[in-house]
Amino acid sequence: MRIYKVGGAVRDRLLGRPVTDIDWVVVGATTEDMLAKGFRPVGADFPVFLHPKSGEEYALARTERKSGRGYGGFTFHASPEVTLEEDLIRRDLTINAMAEDDQQNLTDPYHGQRDLEARLLRHVSPAFAEDPLRVLRVARFAARYAALGFTVAPETLDLMRQLSESGELQALTAERIWKEISRALMEDQPQVFIEVLRACGALNVLMPEVDALFGVPQPQAHHPEIDTGAHTLSALEQAARHKQPLTVRWACLLHDLGKGLTPKEEWPRHIAHEFKGLKLIKAVNERFKAPRDCQELALLVGEYHTHGHRALELKPSTLLELLQSFDVYRRPQRFEEFIAACEMDARGRKGLEERSYPQADYLRGAATAARSVAVQPLLEKGFKGPELGEAIKRERLKALKAYKETASI
Ligand code: ATP
Ligand code: MG
Repeated sequence: MRIYKVGGAVRDRLLGRPVTDIDWVVVGATTEDMLAKGFRPVGADFPVFLHPKSGEEYALARTERKSGRGYGGFTFHASPEVTLEEDLIRRDLTINAMAEDDQQNLTDPYHGQRDLEARLLRHVSPAFAEDPLRVLRVARFAARYAALGFTVAPETLDLMRQLSESGELQALTAERIWKEISRALMEDQPQVFIEVLRACGALNVLMPEVDALFGVPQPQAHHPEIDTGAHTLSALEQAARHKQPLTVRWACLLHDLGKGLTPKEEWPRHIAHEFKGLKLIKAVNERFKAPRDCQELALLVGEYHTHGHRALELKPSTLLELLQSFDVYRRPQRFEEFIAACEMDARGRKGLEERSYPQADYLRGAATAARSVAVQPLLEKGFKGPELGEAIKRERLKALKAYKETASI
């Protein structure tokens, strides 16, 4: 039995990046050998085991053959005769297809090291096209390593395009797609993920609502970058630069979907795009079964982001409605995320990335003012039921009027 480190751990060590999880491949062993050594089997599909102490994953060397559509459509063959090279050739990218023994001797039959130096994400073999998930994985690696200068090799992008056009992407489950999307959005350059998906035609399949934003103009006065797709990518880029959480990044990606529905005659204006976009945001949310907090924030940001930008001009009654819609009394964190998404939207404009966003503090102050209304004195005055609700609203409105006056001095 020979054991090698494989995949990300080898790649990231060679790149000088921190290695977080280590995958191992075991050559020359049977399931029985592994069980005898105390490894615990995981997963029904693959011969994969967890190390009894470290908990790291050890997979028996295996070959794969495509036998049908989608992820289930693979036949695996693991046996002690499968060589390291045979195991490595089924992997997605050359930089992921290197192995290392305990002396750090590298096995690199598909020239991963050469591609690391050339900064290329390149498929190992034509079998790449057998698993559509790889389209998303490559786009995600492109987002992660863009800062190091990595790009997708043209011939790999061709295969990704074929996969996108073949209809195979539709065979992926919502869960697997969301896992890739959510990881990609949390990378340093998530906009590159979207760009790569777009370049190979996958964006048009997975999120046609986002794809449709490219080529749609906006008024130059507010949007020097003009193109709505370019603006969306910039907002996402800013969200990553400002280390925003997944919820905010997801909301940034979807906030302007309504602009893709504007009739050409109305360009570059997008009247009521906030409202028109809601059904598209809902559709994308549901398509990938995004987690509840992501879904909620995306819808709220879609509907109210222009309110955020116009915060200082809003009437106290409109401010109150906004705060009520967010339930800032019980959900303060969600309102903070809304403010962050608005700010990333504002900064996601060409040449305006460093402009201050006074709306943020203004909105925080308004929330504090509305929250400061105490319920106890109203209860003591004898209000109850719906009347109590109305009385609280009146007091909050008063507080917001006072706030607006002092804030404008
Ligand atoms: P990360 O740093 O994100 O963990 P990784 O390269 O280690 O990156 P894993 O998903 O942990 O990625 O997978 C480990 C290895 O298994 C990969 O490096 C690759 O060799 C192989 N692999 C994983 N998923 C696929 C796939 N869908 N197709 C081909 N090879 C894959
Ligand atoms: Mg890994």
